[in-house]
Parts: sequence; structure tokens; C-alpha cells
Amino acid sequence: MAKAKSVDLHVHSVFSDGMLAPADVVRRAAKHNVVALAITDHDTLGGAAEKIAACGEAGVECVVGVELSCEYEGREVHLVSLGADPDSPWTSRLEEMRLARERRMDEMLGRLESLGVRLGMGDIPMDGDVYGRPHLARALVAKGVVKSVNEAFARYLYDDGPVHVAKKRFAFAEGVDLAKRLGGVAVVAHPGVSGLLDVLDDLMRIGADGVEAYNPKHGAETVARVLRFARERGVLVSGGSDFHAPGEGAEVGSQRVPPEVLDPIRELAEKRKRHFVA
Ligand code: AMP
Ligand code: FE
Ligand code: FE
Ligand code: ZN
Repeated sequence: MAKAKSVDLHVHSVFSDGMLAPADVVRRAAKHNVVALAITDHDTLGGAAEKIAACGEAGVECVVGVELSCEYEGREVHLVSLGADPDSPWTSRLEEMRLARERRMDEMLGRLESLGVRLGMGDIPMDGDVYGRPHLARALVAKGVVKSVNEAFARYLYDDGPVHVAKKRFAFAEGVDLAKRLGGVAVVAHPGVSGLLDVLDDLMRIGADGVEAYNPKHGAETVARVLRFARERGVLVSGGSDFHAPGEGAEVGSQRVPPEVLDPIRELAEKRKRHFVA
């Protein structure tokens, strides 16, 4: 039997900490019967034209998106804006994040140096916009300092570890506002992975439009729990693989997400763009 059609509304490319160019992500997605794809790079709408063109060539519907790094009561919250307008003047807020991440990488290189590991910005592979810890982990592997990305995190880069520098984040309410002003639908990402199931109500009250139920790290129970929450609260449902690279975590399209979830998201994003952009 042919694999059921699916959508994947949360994946990454080289524009942030993914390993593949948009065209390669889209090709892999199409092979997995993905009919609509949102390449939601961290804190950047860079490469949108390339992503749209790649989807067009593969006959996959493109949902322009971005995953915003936010903070709520000291916790990290990832907020996806789906259906964003890459030409919105509000992308200037993303540029601030890009620059902050560049400064942060420089600071992390300084910490590494004080531990006796010398790497420069030029050693960090970057084909996109936004630096993240995975770039540094991969550079440490390439230089032979560690054997794997996992070892790089375990020795140096783990949260509050010797090299980790906290990243600039939007206050959650500010992130929700930005996600909408960009013309998109504001969706709380992978709440079961981020430990946010107990504050979902708060996050919706602050203004999020929806929540990801479908994620490869959400067990069946969490998927069911978030679906029930969304139904009871009357908020939208989304989800995706959170694909970053082949062999690292889940494959693009590997998480089944029913195509119907995109209908109300598309509709609301159109309304948003008329409201904020037109
Ligand atoms: P950053 O946004 O720069 O703080 O980097 C966070 C990213 O690093 C996450 O999105 C994960 O993809 C990756 N990451 C975090 N912890 C680990 C880990 N222990 N091993 C591998 N990758 C990790
Ligand atoms: Fe990531
Ligand atoms: Fe995330
Ligand atoms: Zn992600």
C-alpha cells in the first residue's frame, strides 16, 4: 500500500542548524510523500526564495516559516510562525537575533580557547544565516577534538556547561506578537520535548494560535493529550519531524501529520497577512 500523504510543518536547513540545503530537504520530503513542507529555520526567514523555488520544482506546497527562540518564566519555548511573509519589515527583529547569535558564537570560541581548544570563526561551517551550538559541535568533530556531535555536547556544549553561553531569546509574549506581525500563525513547538505541557494554558492565553501535537519525540500518549487539549481549547494543531540532518534525529516526513491540519493554518495566515501586511 502506498504511504499516506502527510505534511511536515517543522524542519531545518543549512540556513540555521540543519545540514542540508533547502533543495535537498525538499527532495527528501517529496520522497516521503510530504505534500506540504515548512522549513522553519531557527530565528531566520533567510533563504525563503530558495525554499519556495525548491518546493515549486518538487510540486510540494511551501509554507514559509521560522522557529523563534523565546522564553517564558525562565524556560525555553520554541514558537513556530507558519505562513510568514519573508518581505515583512518585521524581519529586522530577526536580524537582531542573527547578530546576537554571531556574538554568542564568538564568546563560546573564547571559552573554548580558555580550555585550550583554539578555533576561529573561519573554522565554523556556515552556509546560512544563523549560528547555533550544532555548528560548533560539528567544527569540533572536523578538527578532531571530539569524535562525535554528541561527545561535543557531552564534554563542552551542554546547557550551562563550560562553553555554553545563553542565547538571546524573545519574551514569549513578544515572540507571539512577532510571529503574527510577520504574517504567520503562532504555534508552540514540541511542548512535550520542551517540558511545557503544564503551562500550555498560559501560553495560549498569552496569544499563541496553536500547538504541535505531532512530533517524533512525543509518545502516543503525549500526541493524544495535546490533541485533546487543542480540541478543548479550540486552538490549532500542527506538527512535524523537526528534521535537522540525515542520521541525526528523525528523518524529514517520518512523522505522519494529517494534511487537514494545514487548512485552518493556511486560512488564518492569509487573514494575518491581510491584516498586518496589506
Ligand atoms: P542553540 O540553539 O545554539 O542553543 O543549540 C540548540 C540545538 O542544539 C538544539 O536545537 C539541538 O538541535 C542541538 N542539541 C542540544 N543538545 C544536544 C545534544 N546533547 N546533542 C546533540 N545536539 C544537541
Ligand atoms: Fe535546531
Ligand atoms: Fe525547537
Ligand atoms: Zn526545530
